[in-house]
Amino acid sequence: MSKTVSWEKDAEAVIRKIPRMIQPMVRRKVEKRARALNKKIITSDFLTEVRAKMMPSSQTKSKNIESFYAKTDRSPILSGFYTQNKGPHAGMCDMSPVDDLAGIWPKVSVTDDSAKKRALYIHIPFCLARCKFCSFYHSKTDKQAISSYVTYLMKELEMIAESNYAKTAPFHAVYFGGGTPTDLLPEEFMQILGHLNRYWNLANDCEITVEGRLFGFNDDKIAACLDNGVNRFSFGVQSFNTEIRRKMGRVMKREQLFDRLKCLTKTGKANISVDLIYGFPEQTDAIWLDDMQSVVQSGVDSASIYRLKLMNSSPIVQQVKQGILSKPATIEKQAQQFSASNNYFRTINAKRTGVTHWSFTNRERCIYNSISAYGGSCLPVGCGAGGNLGKYRVMQRMSLENYAEKVKNRKKPIAMASISSTKSTEIALLNGELSLSLGTNLKELSRKTGKSGLNELLEPLLRQWADAGMVNYNAATGLLMLTDAGVFHFPTLSQNLLDYYNWKQR
Ligand code: SF4
Repeated sequence: MSKTVSWEKDAEAVIRKIPRMIQPMVRRKVEKRARALNKKIITSDFLTEVRAKMMPSSQTKSKNIESFYAKTDRSPILSGFYTQNKGPHAGMCDMSPVDDLAGIWPKVSVTDDSAKKRALYIHIPFCLARCKFCSFYHSKTDKQAISSYVTYLMKELEMIAESNYAKTAPFHAVYFGGGTPTDLLPEEFMQILGHLNRYWNLANDCEITVEGRLFGFNDDKIAACLDNGVNRFSFGVQSFNTEIRRKMGRVMKREQLFDRLKCLTKTGKANISVDLIYGFPEQTDAIWLDDMQSVVQSGVDSASIYRLKLMNSSPIVQQVKQGILSKPATIEKQAQQFSASNNYFRTINAKRTGVTHWSFTNRERCIYNSISAYGGSCLPVGCGAGGNLGKYRVMQRMSLENYAEKVKNRKKPIAMASISSTKSTEIALLNGELSLSLGTNLKELSRKTGKSGLNELLEPLLRQWADAGMVNYNAATGLLMLTDAGVFHFPTLSQNLLDYYNWKQR
């Protein structure tokens, strides 16, 4: 029989402050730990101790400068940091949860959005099948389910289009993300894009991206997108190697990928980007080199290069345990493949347009990426969409039923939100410049934002990082540049920088 544990009043108050969506999970973990240690009462100290073990890189980390240091026991690229960010991006740590979720949109919708650049993010949470490496899979593609979803998506778009917030200023980017937006039918693309073109204030040079798979993205769908203003595509190819693709749950063969990409590039009407991943099981150095050569030969404009990051929820983890798949690359192998990609793209004179992005032509503008890297306004629409509304970071309803129910009642379907206490411009600029330009000048950043002393504040940490090989830093001029090791560890490096900054501000 499971032993019962109770929560002290203070511990209850602490857990209520964490985002509602993860509260049950944290509760379960803390109670499990208490039972294992034969504790009958959970105190706030015990809660803090368990949370620190669960989230060593967040606000709970111990407060001394050494905890932000880069390690120096091996080569810089293999050493990493004492505290690791396991997610793909750094998260702001001056955020606190918002309880009055229903009150957010009525407040935001009537205000002016003062952001200089704004984006609209539209989420399509359907995929034909789950890729083995994915931890974001939501729902299986089904004609009827998508058709009904588009009805509600249109209702949400129409409701938002009427708001003062949406009308205040032009949108500079629209991003269809997923899931697999390319699973929409041609008429669904026409319906959504037609509405955006008619009723939304889109900048004349608005970047409109559709992301997805090449599989099933036929000529009619391509025409529906291109004839209605889409000017950028982002395809998750991941690898051109047919065998690796098959093992990762992707259906198209290498030749078919080339065919589809050729159909798109020959139109000359849109900027085309492709995602590649290194570190897959059995992806040898020769296969990885071929992937990089193939992406360039395919004639696309740019490529995003990611390293395989596995969450426990991705099927690959289970299949490796069951012996169905071989083990993915070790950190040493990943570091080697990352260096190989730097060498290859530098050799062909590709232009680096972000920590994970290389451009082969001058067509890539990275507008959506840059708005999101600089923490700008990103209005989320759709089930499971996330974004930034003023000082709020919000996540919309994850269940299709709950989403539809809210929209039917003309409510913005926000499921979770946090608010930034500072909305610090200097930190948003710092993160944006590092992730897009791989460097910044801290003195110049102080001048631009009116926040003096940024260079002095960060200097003690940056000196250690420079000694550890993560950055090149000149304290006299304020120039800070990421090294290749710093780029490889960027999500952790930027999280540590934000955490350190906030810690010093308190
Ligand atoms: S298409 Fe994208 S979102 Fe869908 S399962 Fe594959 S990786 Fe995940």
